[in-house]
Amino acid sequence: MPQPILIANWKMNLSLKELENLANDFKKELGGIQDKDIIICPSTVSLITMAGLIGDSYLQLGAQNVFWQDSGAYTGETSPMILKEIGCRYVIVGHSERRQYLNETDEMVNKKVQACLANNLMPILCIGETRETRQEGQTDNVLHRQLISGLDSVNLIDQEQLIIAYEPTWAIGSGLIADPEEVERVFALIRQTLVNLYPLTIVNNNVRIIYGGSVDASNIAGFSEIELLAGFLVGGASLEVGKFKEIVKFL
Ligand code: PEP
Repeated sequence: MPQPILIANWKMNLSLKELENLANDFKKELGGIQDKDIIICPSTVSLITMAGLIGDSYLQLGAQNVFWQDSGAYTGETSPMILKEIGCRYVIVGHSERRQYLNETDEMVNKKVQACLANNLMPILCIGETRETRQEGQTDNVLHRQLISGLDSVNLIDQEQLIIAYEPTWAIGSGLIADPEEVERVFALIRQTLVNLYPLTIVNNNVRIIYGGSVDASNIAGFSEIELLAGFLVGGASLEVGKFKEIVKFL
């Protein structure tokens, strides 16, 4: 089982000066931690600056998005090859905000997962149901579809690592937190789907399942019983090092 992972998704926040200050705070408070993977995902334009700022610490760099081709006539897109070149190791793929505002489909998400792995980047594949989906009793079907489509033709081999982030969309940035018992049930479902796709050793050694959605110090204790929980994807609470540190300490 790989070590726990904490992902700070800074989204489209922070001026360059604010980013520098926060990066320095992270480095001071969390930069020496080696027994957990701590990933910072700043906006795409800040990635190179961030790579320089965290360079001599154990903090790792992640991107919030990627395109599925290495180069070519794709105006405005970001090459996975260049992400790798500047020191990125992880990429958030299929975040619900991109599915909602940028119309990312399961097919696009799948191409991005494949492009990450082809470039030796670890995809953080986000899946999650909307409030309506849950009310209609379709949660399991939607999660299963997102997972199966997102991993279509993805043959995890050798050292290739994958992170599945279960993020109910209604919990993201809303202050609402999913019931830990329900998260545990969903995690078991995700794991079973993965076991149907890959050899058990690959699922055990190469895949981490994490939760995201309004996680902070006040609600984190509820997740302590979830056996399969390998980490958290954190938005709002990652914009203050003190709040994020509480989550890091918990895991
Ligand atoms: C996210 O951006 O994936 C997220 C979980 O955000 P928040 O923690 O603010 O809900």
